Amino acid sequence: MNENLLQIQGLVVQFGGICAVNHLNLSINRSEIIGLIGPNGAGKTTAFNVITGIVKPASGNLFFLEQEITGKPTPVIARKGIARTFQNIRLYDDLTVIENVMVAAHCAISYSFPEAIIGFGRFGKDERRIKSRARDLLELMGLAHLGGEKANSLPYGSQRKLEIARALALEPKLLLLDEPVAGMNPTETSEFGEFVLKLRKDMSLGIGLIEHDMSFVMHVCDRIKVIDHGVEIAWGVPHEIRNNEKVIKAYLGEG
Ligand code: ATP
Repeated sequence: MNENLLQIQGLVVQFGGICAVNHLNLSINRSEIIGLIGPNGAGKTTAFNVITGIVKPASGNLFFLEQEITGKPTPVIARKGIARTFQNIRLYDDLTVIENVMVAAHCAISYSFPEAIIGFGRFGKDERRIKSRARDLLELMGLAHLGGEKANSLPYGSQRKLEIARALALEPKLLLLDEPVAGMNPTETSEFGEFVLKLRKDMSLGIGLIEHDMSFVMHVCDRIKVIDHGVEIAWGVPHEIRNNEKVIKAYLGEG
């Protein structure tokens, strides 16, 4: 059994009168790809927002590597090893591709403010290490040749890959992807699926993903949790989920 990374127990999130997430349990292990799926408004992004400290839960507990992270601030959670991408791409448009990755890698710096101003000691060493790591990540994502381009000049699929390179710069153990193939064509989606599987294999990452593209989800995920109106309606391996009547009804409606 692989090491447990994330454990969510009895998570409840309220927005005024709306219960967006209702007693959700979820666990993600190292080297495991877990899908979180459900119709629009099911509470999927809200669950990711709680894991990454953007939204505070009404109740429930979250543990990462057996340490409680419930309600902790986003930077603390990121430093513990959880990185994510967003449904709507969030890049620094005016920075270059490599600078976007380097900004994230600076979270791991060890030099002091005076050293940074004067530019000696650990500063120079860390800057070289960060730049070299950023180049490696761009290489991994097939973006190395675009390092000097402005982020906003990249085609959509490449911007999505750049977001992932930036998330990986944080050296996470758990990567959360919110609708990673939205807007990609079938060829890009299929290539991206192979890339996610390679990432898991090469880096032993745990990966949690939200996605509406069912063939992508069924291809890459080891297990899938389905929620509707914040409540779990199914949990299992892809072929169990594909044939589950509650899941089919939730997606297609009672009719
Ligand atoms: P989609 O697949 O459409 O992205 P989702 O499953 O990610 O949907 P959420 O975005 O988590 O769903 O939303 C769950 C519910 O919580 C919805 O009813 C949504 O309107 C509500 N909600 C989400 N964020 C907020 C917020 N900040 N304030 C108020 N209500 C919110």
